[in-house]
Amino acid sequence: MTDEKSGRITMLHGAGGTVMHDLVRNYVVRYFGGASNAEVPLEAMDDAAVVGDVVFKSDSHAVKPIFFPGGDIGCLSVSGTVNDISMLGAEPYALACGFVLEEGLALADFERILVSMRQTCAEAGVSIVTGDTKVVEKGSLGGCVINTSGIGRRTPALDRNLKVVKSFRKSFKPRWALDSNLARGDKIILSGTIGDHGLAVLSAQEGLSFGSGIKSDVKPLNRLIQRLLGEVGGIVAMKDPTRGGLADAINEFSEKSNVGMLLHEDKIPIRGDVRAACEMLGLDPFEVGNEGKVIIGVVKEKADEILKLLRKTEEGKEAEIIGEATADFAGVAMQTVVGGKRIIARPVGDPVPRIC
Ligand code: MG
Repeated sequence: MTDEKSGRITMLHGAGGTVMHDLVRNYVVRYFGGASNAEVPLEAMDDAAVVGDVVFKSDSHAVKPIFFPGGDIGCLSVSGTVNDISMLGAEPYALACGFVLEEGLALADFERILVSMRQTCAEAGVSIVTGDTKVVEKGSLGGCVINTSGIGRRTPALDRNLKVVKSFRKSFKPRWALDSNLARGDKIILSGTIGDHGLAVLSAQEGLSFGSGIKSDVKPLNRLIQRLLGEVGGIVAMKDPTRGGLADAINEFSEKSNVGMLLHEDKIPIRGDVRAACEMLGLDPFEVGNEGKVIIGVVKEKADEILKLLRKTEEGKEAEIIGEATADFAGVAMQTVVGGKRIIARPVGDPVPRIC
């Protein structure tokens, strides 16, 4: 399946699961890792790096098609980088943007993408301050690829959040919300429904209509996260469940923090039409990517307050406490609605190609 023998890159190498993680670890980190004294270095493979007090992130967007229900490559490329910077607890403020345009792309479509990017920047409170434009011959790019890179900074809200964490966990040392920060007893909160983005893109790729309005959840989450950090606090780790979905993100938490994760199936929010479409297509909604959701690890004493504030917001109105970190076992298990336990393994790759 991974086509290791061919010695060539396959679509699975970009699908966010074990195959992609192995590629990054065995090639990219092998050559570039260990070379910096960054506080959060490349080899941490977190959502972004920390160099000095600057949070730094780069992300290329190759979604196909470039327009899909609920969004387009423009708002996606801004939200993607904004959200990864936000996951460490930082406030993003400036972006660089590199366009690779395909010969034949309609100028009207390019302009539509720029308008969407400008709107999303305004929503997130960030600016695009530098960039680059290249054009390639007509091929299979699908119109354009957009890279955005961005920087973010610490905020008083993050410092306040860490103070709250330390009031419950004296030995807590990290200065950022990292994947490796979780400990036994922490609660896991999911900010809303899963699978919407992947299915919206799939419906556009395949010309499918699921008979209802499944739309992408693509959205910048930085303002929401700063509110949660500043007004409640107690957050130790955050991750946006993009490629590979909830299953990949939660396994990453578990591996890096060296704790087990117990999820409760009845608490995981999934839209009825998303669930039905997944069943019809044989997809696991846990492995389908999202672009406007956050998984939050929080000290148990603050979980209810975080949930309450989330539910008052548009982005978090369907939030749930979906599980907790445990020392009872390693890896990720889910208490199913029928009373058994199911292992949630790291997916090989997101079942939908080119969703971001
Ligand atoms: Mg991320």
